Amino acid sequence: MDIFNAKIGSIPRISEKYVEILKKINVFTVSDFLLHFPFRYEDYSERIEIDSLVAGQTATIMGEISTSKLVRTWKKKMLITECHIADETGSVRAVWFNQPYVSDSLTVGKGVRLAGKVLEDKNGFYFSNPAWELSSREPTNTGRLVPIYSETEGLTSKWIRWQMQNIFKLKLEIPDPIPADILEELHLPPIKTALQYIHFPQSENQYLLAQKRFAFQNMLTVQLASLKVKANWEKESCVKIPFQEKTIQQFTASLPFTLTNAQRKASFEILKDLEKTRPMNRLLNGDVGSGKTIIAALASLQTTQADFQIAIMAPTEVLARQHYTTFCELFKNTKIKIALLTNSYRETNSKQNTRYEIQDTKKVQKSKAQRDELLTKIKHGEINITIGTHALIQKDIHFKNLALVIIDEQHRFGVSQRAFLQQQIETINDGLPGKIPHLLTMTATPIPRTLTMAYFGNLDLSLLDEMPKNRKPIITKIVPPRQRNEVYNFVRSQVADGHQVFIIFPLVEESEKLAELKAATQEHERLSRDIFPALSLGLLHGKLKAKEKEQVMADFKNKKYDILVATSVVEVGIDVPNATVIIIEDADRFGLSQLHQFRGRVGRSQLQSYCFLLTSSNTVKSKSRLGALEKTNGGFEIAEADLKMRGPGEFLGLRQSGLPDIAMQHLGNVKLIEISRQKALQLLKSSPTLAKYPLLKKELTRFAINVHLE
Ligand code: ADP
Ligand code: MG
Repeated sequence: MDIFNAKIGSIPRISEKYVEILKKINVFTVSDFLLHFPFRYEDYSERIEIDSLVAGQTATIMGEISTSKLVRTWKKKMLITECHIADETGSVRAVWFNQPYVSDSLTVGKGVRLAGKVLEDKNGFYFSNPAWELSSREPTNTGRLVPIYSETEGLTSKWIRWQMQNIFKLKLEIPDPIPADILEELHLPPIKTALQYIHFPQSENQYLLAQKRFAFQNMLTVQLASLKVKANWEKESCVKIPFQEKTIQQFTASLPFTLTNAQRKASFEILKDLEKTRPMNRLLNGDVGSGKTIIAALASLQTTQADFQIAIMAPTEVLARQHYTTFCELFKNTKIKIALLTNSYRETNSKQNTRYEIQDTKKVQKSKAQRDELLTKIKHGEINITIGTHALIQKDIHFKNLALVIIDEQHRFGVSQRAFLQQQIETINDGLPGKIPHLLTMTATPIPRTLTMAYFGNLDLSLLDEMPKNRKPIITKIVPPRQRNEVYNFVRSQVADGHQVFIIFPLVEESEKLAELKAATQEHERLSRDIFPALSLGLLHGKLKAKEKEQVMADFKNKKYDILVATSVVEVGIDVPNATVIIIEDADRFGLSQLHQFRGRVGRSQLQSYCFLLTSSNTVKSKSRLGALEKTNGGFEIAEADLKMRGPGEFLGLRQSGLPDIAMQHLGNVKLIEISRQKALQLLKSSPTLAKYPLLKKELTRFAINVHLE
């Protein structure tokens, strides 16, 4: 029988009850179970003689039970098992609370192994709730490096250890997806050995080596996947969009500012890509406020000059609308026709250009005609630039000749969704048979180099690592609760100077779990009533309809409000140059990169801006974490720090990739990534479809499924 791939319930000692519990941690098969890795190890490997115990140390002892009794405390009605264990050198006490079954097993004369922390009270040394097992058993929970697994209700590390042992006693054959010669060359253990090292390590070296192996396996799969995506993409063809030097120059000359060198270089790379017959697949990676929008506009301009269409997608309707407004403004003196196509805007009439704002008519019959009219115009090529959310390519929209797709703030979408989008783009009805559009993705999350290499290996990269010259670095301060009033005073003075303020809250409504968090709505009331009665405050939160959000943002931009109280909705892309202060409540609840994004809502003009991180947490850890923001405005530096603290899995939203945390910690390892890429290239060279490596191919589909379902 193929035990490795069998259902977990087929293991004789695993009952139906446990099969159900294991489902909760996504364990369905024996292989899933074996890939449920411990997240740390407790070192119980050294046996200590009882007379050498030291208070505070973690130790394993071995001896015989010399006394054993079960007592009930009067006050608390608690059951306490109290034993003495003796070896040749002495004896020591051990107590267990509310585990009466312990006294059934630990009867006088039994040999026992026991592990835990040595405590001390007036009666001498003792152990409290130590791990134990009879010495007739092989060391599982004591007497070795004991793996600690993440537990769930009804599932203990102890049970998992016991079952691991049972499974390894079966005749277990585990096929290795990685070719043996590669493992040998890299001095990595084969899969079965590696699993043994993970669950039954005899030394730290063993489990570290095993973790390295699994990290390599995952990275190899990622690299194979991205190389295949790249190869597929490069096989496609696209239309050539000639470089219109003069038009581009005229346009940039008409802007109220000069482009930064980084912007110039990135636009050049993009405009040159558009000229090729191989479709562009480029990531524009630039910090918040580095000016990505204008680059998207330049690429669009060149594309419209060749009479092709462009689709621009943003993650939220608010942002799509903002781009729409920006593009209308940028192109107001041209004949370029721009449309906004989202699910919830009503049609409005506007004189400027030909704009269309269409409501999805599935629900509202009234505007169906307008939507149809717009879709017809897109189909006939009467619209040049269509801006919307991602619904744009997932719907039944036909273009006459779509040649360029731009996706903004794509970091908001996991690696998986990105892969999905890319797939969609390849199948979009672009009116150009046999061709696919050029693709430009933009992100404001500065992605550290290691991760770019690891996860975006299939993309070409343009970096905006330079801010427009008129910017002053944002002054950032961590603020403890007692200084809150000073911040409020500062807000008043900034508003008196004609500036505006963001106040960010982590949540929309009071939820039981996070009851201590002030809900933004309540806070908005309190601030309006008690703190800033003379000022006007807007409220923006995720529960508002897109149209309402849009209204609030527009009102804020038009200075109807002095202060905007908002939840994390404002995180991406919102541009209000007159805002100079951002206050972030409960700042310790957010990741560094996210805080950096928030901070990017201010400092978008030549005005000096300020960011206040309010936090009541005074742990050294949270201080040093937030301190990274005080120290630098550099997104890339912050991203590196964030990556170090959170690990690549969380950083990239890869939590669902099925890779254990412990292996994930190795993924930031540049050398590992380089070797994986090199090996992936080598394997694909010897077998382009991976037919020679069926297990690896299977691993790849498993990875793809994981990633797509996220
Ligand atoms: P992001 O990269 O975060 O998307 P935006 O494209 O929204 O940034 O640009 C932020 C602001 O900076 C906008 O108001 C834009 O007009 C302005 N901007 C862009 N490039 C420059 C530049 N070279 N000099 C001055 N201001 C610029
Ligand atoms: Mg932007």
